[in-house]
This record gives sequence, structure tokens and C-alpha cells, in this order.
Amino acid sequence: MPTFQTSPGTRDILPPDAARWRQFNAIFADTVEAAGYGCIIPPIFEDATVFHRIGEATDVVSKEMYDFEDKGGRHVSLRPEQTASVCRAFAQHRPTTPWKVWYTGPNFRYEKAQAGRYRQFDQVGIEALGVHDSDLDVEVIALAWKFYQRLGLSNVQLVINSLGDDGDRARYVDALRQYLQSHQDALTPEARQTLERNPLRVLDSKRQGDLDVIASAPTIKAFLSVEANEHFEKVLTGLRALAIPFTQNEYLVRGLDYYRRTSFEFVSTALESAQNAIGGGGRYDGLVQSLGGPDTPGIGFALGLDRTLLACDAEGVFGAPKSSVDVFVVDVIDGTHALAVTNNIQDAGYSADRAFDGRSMKAQMKSADRSGARFAIIIAQDEVASGSYTIRDMASAQQQLVAKSDLVEFLTRNLGKRTPRRSPS
Ligand code: AMP
Repeated sequence: MPTFQTSPGTRDILPPDAARWRQFNAIFADTVEAAGYGCIIPPIFEDATVFHRIGEATDVVSKEMYDFEDKGGRHVSLRPEQTASVCRAFAQHRPTTPWKVWYTGPNFRYEKAQAGRYRQFDQVGIEALGVHDSDLDVEVIALAWKFYQRLGLSNVQLVINSLGDDGDRARYVDALRQYLQSHQDALTPEARQTLERNPLRVLDSKRQGDLDVIASAPTIKAFLSVEANEHFEKVLTGLRALAIPFTQNEYLVRGLDYYRRTSFEFVSTALESAQNAIGGGGRYDGLVQSLGGPDTPGIGFALGLDRTLLACDAEGVFGAPKSSVDVFVVDVIDGTHALAVTNNIQDAGYSADRAFDGRSMKAQMKSADRSGARFAIIIAQDEVASGSYTIRDMASAQQQLVAKSDLVEFLTRNLGKRTPRRSPS
């Protein structure tokens, strides 16, 4: 057993899987930038109070924050999510609205670590601030949907609900509390505890005893204001117009307290139910104000990168890319030719790797094979004497002599044209 191991709930993402993460982020960026979202990079830790605005009663704040006092006596926290940071940034910089941003990066929650649930996990997400229009809700949901489709996922369900406005939600929570209190005896001890803190969270319980009580609990629909109801109907009409299938679930409340009106979740039916939520979001019309900004509506989503990739694995889509270089240089003289030629090939826009430590021809050819390179360039005394390279096609094992000056032309003919890697002139 090595001396050090990653901490519980954290993992090393090794190649080639890390390349898949980068592709994931690139596809996400491309999808949302096409709709006018710009990248934001908030700090990874902030004043802990920023995250308290997520809701004191939420598990995320009350149990899972990685917060501590820094050397200057400030109470800071690693971010458990990024929506609060984006709203804090909005309140701090006051950009013109609509303000549409996207992000990616790690978040931290002290959770019970298990498959698909980590203490450090990544999310990609978007936030759009300053717009009440229900068309924006549709745009936001449609972008997540499009992204899943681009990954190749087909077993994703969109579950949607409206939590109404502030007053609606408060009246509903009262009614729900009353109902659950009157059925306390049938609830599990865990649910009874949750009821004390946050009645809405009881609806998330998957325990059998609780499910029976939840089945007859009042639903939010009856408490929605006319405006909230109208807004929700328009969102549903927009989703139908874009042919995005959805399921309505009046008990969908989501973990974070700041949601208002539209609230949604993406569930992978290819995963076990304990970890099948692969993304979620909604409106949070009061959050910016609670962070000291102007009264500004907002909506967004966060998709769990780790878990979405588990869903990809379960569906057999979006696998890790094959890592290979174009060319592997085998220099059996002293390595100085390899040094120059790999450098030239890289500058010309192709990728090239080589062997080190003056290894034998046989060992270097083995490395060339393992590298997955399309071609090996072999440099021995004969090649140096004739000013050329022996180029071996690794698949067909055919070899040919190519003049040094024709190397880039050879690569262009066989691998296609590439953009040279040079500093801008
Ligand atoms: P939330 O920020 O809680 O709304 O979560 C949004 C998405 O992030 C979830 O649907 C999950 O896919 C992912 N997620 C949240 N917490 C974790 C975690 N501890 N480990 C892995 N993924 C997570």
C-alpha cells in the first residue's frame, strides 16, 4: 500500500479519461456559447456567508460545507456550487442585463462518499440573470437537453415542476408541515428529523414508510399564484414546441432553497436511483437581492460532470478518446536528431513523441507501437548520410525513404493540413 492515497470522496482523473473531461467541457462550451453565454471563472473559495444564502436549512449549508477560518481570521468556504458565486459576482460588478454566463469546475461537499457521490465533484452550468420571460426558461432547459443529445445520451428524463413565488412557496410549506405533522407516526425517524428542519426535503425521501405518507401529501399546484401558473404553462408550451419530452412531478422540490417558479431535474434511467440525478436547475428570483444586489430574476442549471459520465458509461456512449500521437521518432544514434525533428513536427501542427535514454532500436519500435502513432520516423546512420528519414506506416509495416525537406509535405499528404503552432506574428 503506498503511503498516500487520495482522500475519501476524491479521485485522480487519469489519462485518457481526463481527455474525456476536456472534451465534455469543450462540447458544453460550444453548445452554450452558440446561445450567447460567456465563460465566468469565479474563485473556488469565498466568504462562507455567500453560500449561506443558498439556505440555512439545506443539507449543503448545514452539514456539508468545507468551511474554515483562514490565517487572517476570515470565515471562508470552498464552494459547494457556483450559482451563489455567480449571483455574488453579479451583485459586485453590476453588468448589463441580460447577463448570460457559463462555468465549469470543481465543487466541494462533505457528503457520504459512494459511487456517483463525491466530496469533490465537477459541474458545468449556465446562469442567466435579469429576465422574467418564460422563453428564457425554455432556452435554458433546451440547452441542457441539446448538450445531453450531443454526448449521445438517450436515456435522460426531464422532470419539471413549479415552486411558485415566494409567498406561494411559504403557504405551501405551511400546509405541508401541517400535513406531515399530522402523519408523524407513519414517518421514518429520519424524515421526522428532516421535517423539523425543512418539510420540503421530506418529499425527497425514498424510504418506503415515507413514500406512503408522501403519496397523499398536498401538492404545490393548488398554491401557485395566477402569474406563476401562467408562467409555468408557457414554459411547458415552449418545451412542447421544441419537442422536448418532460414529466411533471409536483413533488420535485430540489435540494437548494432558493428556487422559485420553474424547477427541473434531469434523471438518467440508465443509473441506479441513488445517483440517477445527473443535473438540475431552476429559477432563483430572490437570490441576487439576498446577496446585496438589485432585485434581479435569474435562472440556470448545473449538470454533474462525474455523474453524467457514469450515465455515458452505462449507455456505452462518449467513451474516452484514444490517446495517440501522429508520429513516433526512433533515433538510434544519440537522440539529438529526435530532439530536433519532434520539435519541427510539433511546430508544423502535428503531434510527435520519441524515446529517451538511448534505448535499443527494438525497444524504441515497441514504444512506437504502444504510442498508437500512425507513422514511425527512423533515424540511423544511413538516413543521416542521405539527408532523409525512413518512414514506417505502423499499420501496414511499409517503409519508405523521405527527404528531410519533404517531411512536412509527406505529413500533410497523409494526415491532412494542420495549423502550425507558432507565436502570432
Ligand atoms: P445540485 O447543485 O445539488 O443541484 O446538483 C446538480 C447536479 O450536480 C446533480 O444532479 C448531480 O449530478 C451533481 N452532484 C451534486 N452533488 C454531487 C456529489 N456529491 N457528487 C457527484 N455529483 C454531484
